[in-house]
Amino acid sequence: MSVGLLPPVTTSCGRIDAEPLTEGPRFVRTRAMTRWHRPRSGRRYVRTGRTVYDLWCGGGYVDDTAFQRDEPLAGEPVCGTCDGRAVGAGQEPDGPSDRELLFSPRWIDPPKNCPGSRSTLFAEMAGGRVGRCLVCGDHQPLRAMGGPYDPRYGIVQHPTGAALVAPCPFHRWRYLTVVDGCVACGCGRPLDAPARPDGGTGGS
Ligand SMILES: [Zn+2]
Ligand SMILES: [Zn+2]
Ligand SMILES: [Zn+2]
Repeated sequence: MSVGLLPPVTTSCGRIDAEPLTEGPRFVRTRAMTRWHRPRSGRRYVRTGRTVYDLWCGGGYVDDTAFQRDEPLAGEPVCGTCDGRAVGAGQEPDGPSDRELLFSPRWIDPPKNCPGSRSTLFAEMAGGRVGRCLVCGDHQPLRAMGGPYDPRYGIVQHPTGAALVAPCPFHRWRYLTVVDGCVACGCGRPLDAPARPDGGTGGS
C-alpha cells in the first residue's frame, strides 16, 4: 500500500534533473536510523533512476536502498514528528493507531557524552590526576588542556554517568559552570547536585 506524496517543493531555482513522485511507501527506514519515518515527498532522478524520499520530520531523506514497509516491524518505534505531521496533513489513510511513537528532541534527553567532558567541572581527588565529575558524578582521568598561556587541567571526555545533575529548564546542560563548588547554569540558576552513591554531599 502506498500513500500520496506532496510536491517536492524547493527554494533552490536551479534546473532539477528529476521527476516528482506522487506516491510513496508509508514507512521508510535506513539501517542507521533508530526509528521508522514517513515520506513527505519524493523524486526520481532521470539520469540515474535513483529515487529519493524527503521525511516529514525534516530529518533528512532516504533513497531506494532504505527499507520500505506498510507497517513498522513489531517493537520498532515510529518517528513522532513524522507521524504527527503525516496524520495531521491527512496523508495517513487509516488514522491514529497504537504505534509506538518516539520523539527525542536534542538537549531534552540526557546526552550520551557527559556535558562535563573536557571541562574544569570536576573536583580533584587526592593522590593523582583523577577528578570526580561535578556534572555526572563519575571518576575520570584529568588531562592537560589549554595553551601555554592558559595551562589547566580538564576532565577527559566520558559517557554520561548515572548521577547526572538536573538540567536547567531553560538551557539544559549547555552552559554549566561552578558556583561555590556546586554546578549551576550560566544563567545563575542552581542545579540539583548529583545524588552520590555514598550518601555524601560533594566536596573533595
Ligand atoms: Zn521522522
Ligand atoms: Zn561527567
Ligand atoms: Zn539556565
